Amino acid sequence: MPPNDQPPPDEVRDQLDQLRQAIDAIDHDMVALLKERQEQVDKVLQLKKTHGLSVYHPAREENLISEKRRIGRAVGLDTDYLEDIFRRILRQSRVEQTAQLSRRGSRPGAIVLVVGGQGAMGDYLSGWFGQAGYRVRCLDRDDWSQAATLCRGIDLALISVPIESTSAVARRLGPYLPATCVLTDVTSVKQQPLEAMLEAHPGPVIGLHPLFGPATTTLDKQVVVATPGRDRPACQWLLDQFADWGAIVLTTRAEDHDDIMGIVQALRHFATFIFGRFLYEQRVRLDEALEFSSPIYRLEFGMVGRLFAQDARLYSEIIFASPERRSLLKKYLASAQTNLDLIANDDRTGFEDQFRRIAEWFDPFSRQALRESTYLIDKLIERF
Ligand code: NAD
Repeated sequence: MPPNDQPPPDEVRDQLDQLRQAIDAIDHDMVALLKERQEQVDKVLQLKKTHGLSVYHPAREENLISEKRRIGRAVGLDTDYLEDIFRRILRQSRVEQTAQLSRRGSRPGAIVLVVGGQGAMGDYLSGWFGQAGYRVRCLDRDDWSQAATLCRGIDLALISVPIESTSAVARRLGPYLPATCVLTDVTSVKQQPLEAMLEAHPGPVIGLHPLFGPATTTLDKQVVVATPGRDRPACQWLLDQFADWGAIVLTTRAEDHDDIMGIVQALRHFATFIFGRFLYEQRVRLDEALEFSSPIYRLEFGMVGRLFAQDARLYSEIIFASPERRSLLKKYLASAQTNLDLIANDDRTGFEDQFRRIAEWFDPFSRQALRESTYLIDKLIERF
């Protein structure tokens, strides 16, 4: 029936009013239930605090979502819609829990020295420690004459200087450190800095790599890689602190970290750099390209734009970090070169053969990738 501009007859208006009142009452109940839920979450938090348990339980969250989808299906509700709502509710619980936990650090009052504390990451981490009740000191490039005073009585020395300076800074810092002080760094490569820290300081040593930058507003579900060096138990409070802030701490060997980061960071960034460089060389009209892009292409252009919105030095440090990384990138380019033959010979069958072989190898990740990227695209559509 086409929409009718006439005011509805009285009996219809009464019915509509009644239905709207019923909906308002349900909304009211929903808010009250959310409040009640929050009170239960607070009790869980108290228990977790008492027993030193972490806020985020991936398995519990995934079970909970699956269960809600199952119930939704049974009562005829859109399961994606339900999942969206519950993920939002769960996120809110996590953020509130971590905010409460981070207010009081795992060692409040402990003294933290941030070397390179005036830099982007150093300043950012100083803020987190400061808010959690730690006493934070900063030692930057021009402060070495006061190193002895700054290091007196510290519980943690955290090095946050450019990658190529980390080892030298560790060696310079070592003699000033109290024996029980934990020495750590946040460098994006781990092997060399860890070795240098172990040589420089006979006390507890652990390498950290936060896989996020200083623009991150919450540490909820952000990953921190930890590469233990010496006296792991003495370093545990530091890992607990990151977990209390909501981060997921993954522990691995420094060599393994560097290998996997070659792929996760160096290769990804380098491939994005190549794509961006080509767009630039072709002087592609980005505004026009975006206008003709559906959300998935927007997202891909967005990832390129994002890279070039950041600091060139940070990326060069990551990409050129080690001879192993550079040889991985050479291999990548050599592999890219083999695709030239496919194009030169207009070899569509060869392309499709390769495609199918790779697709088989990617399975089952490709199904997960499809699900996750579809979710992102839907979110982009909601916003832009
Ligand atoms: P930055 O250039 O902003 O900061 C480096 C700081 O170190 C500066 O304040 C500088 O003055 C200081 N510094 C340099 N040499 C020094 C010395 N000899 N003694 C004392 N201070 C010195 O760099 P950033 O982006 O903050 O990166 C710092 C570290 O954090 C790097 O190792 C990087 O790999 C790591 N990291 C950065 C990010 C990020 O997104 N920025 C993310 C993860 C890890």
